[in-house]
Amino acid sequence: MRPFKFSSANDLRAAAQTIAANREAQFLAGGTNILDLMKEDVMRPTELVDVSRLNLTQIKSAKGGLSLGALAKNTDTANHPLVRQNYPLLSQAILAGASQQIRNMATNGGNLLQRTRCSYFYDVAMPCNKREPGSGCGALEGINRMHAIFGWSDKCVAVYPSDMSIALVALDAIVKVQGTNGAERSIPFADFHRLPGDNPEKDTNLIHGDLITAIELPKNNFAGKSYYLKVRDRASYAFALVSVAAALEMNGSKIKQARIAMGGVAHKPWRALQAEKMLVGKEATEANFRQAAEAEMKNAKPLEHNKFKVELGNRGIVRALQMAMNGAV
Ligand SMILES: Cc1cc2nc3c(=O)[nH]c(=O)nc-3n(C[C@H](O)[C@H](O)[C@H](O)COP(=O)(O)OP(=O)(O)OC[C@H]3O[C@@H](n4cnc5c(N)ncnc54)[C@H](O)[C@@H]3O)c2cc1C
Ligand code: SF4
Repeated sequence: MRPFKFSSANDLRAAAQTIAANREAQFLAGGTNILDLMKEDVMRPTELVDVSRLNLTQIKSAKGGLSLGALAKNTDTANHPLVRQNYPLLSQAILAGASQQIRNMATNGGNLLQRTRCSYFYDVAMPCNKREPGSGCGALEGINRMHAIFGWSDKCVAVYPSDMSIALVALDAIVKVQGTNGAERSIPFADFHRLPGDNPEKDTNLIHGDLITAIELPKNNFAGKSYYLKVRDRASYAFALVSVAAALEMNGSKIKQARIAMGGVAHKPWRALQAEKMLVGKEATEANFRQAAEAEMKNAKPLEHNKFKVELGNRGIVRALQMAMNGAV
């Protein structure tokens, strides 16, 4: 590990300003991602500002919905009675990720900002535009079984790894951010992460020095019919090949609203808007679920080693919707 400067923050604005003053500085929250990346020499911050003691750990009702503190632990968020009762999709998604020990350390803000698990990104001997802009993409013509099928560019084909974020985009969450000038901004979750385009080194639309303070969840009517499905190589402690967050609101036997988001398929949480649109006003049948899934997946552009993800996506969407319809928890 390379030497770095360390300080512990006790003031939000000062923390953001310290980071903003140094391009090479980073916040430290639970440390479960950034410290690994530093040990692997993938990230080389010259300064860390520990924000874990800031008073941003509350989970509370707000504006008819819920506010999740950026520094609340993943475990506390998943197990909070209001999350379990009103946003079971989020609880399931968090519990599908990592391990109990890691979730005990990991924070909500850090979870959103975890970096890709592309193996070329982690291997400093390989070219990677995300780690070192302009060096090339090892995965484009390499082993790309785990990589993207939507929204990739020839600069980067990585997928975004967070499970929690897939539920958050389906639930129309909003990220609250404090900028370096002290002003608070709200970023709709769908605009928080970005596709790689020509700048895969940028994972999000944050400005250097922005501190995530909270994640807000609007009131919703999906609690009784939602499900997070994660398909992976091992039953636990593995990232998604494909995941689907599905939620339905019914009007009698017809679907009033559908929410479908996918993980493991793109550089950001992928909202399946085509599929959602097709389901509105339809009966909740397997045939309609399959039709909606195919409308979404027909636009996929798989790479050499991940063509299987297209049919996995089709089946995943159908299965997650069926489980949601059955009120599975
Ligand atoms: C072995 C292993 C398996 C895992 N499996 C999964 C999995 O299956 N699914 C899954 O979703 N995740 C998985 N994870 C990832 C884990 O969920 C993340 O490492 C964790 O959520 C990151 O949170 P943290 O608080 O530790 O972040 P840190 O490591 O402290 O920080 C991560 C990044 O976020 C920035 N940051 C942190 N807080 C803030 C803030 N408030 N404002 C602005 N920037 C901030 C930091 O500067 C850093 O760049 C796994 C991790 C490990 C090690
Ligand atoms: S897919 Fe992205 S992260 Fe992976 S090697 Fe290519 S540029 Fe790097």
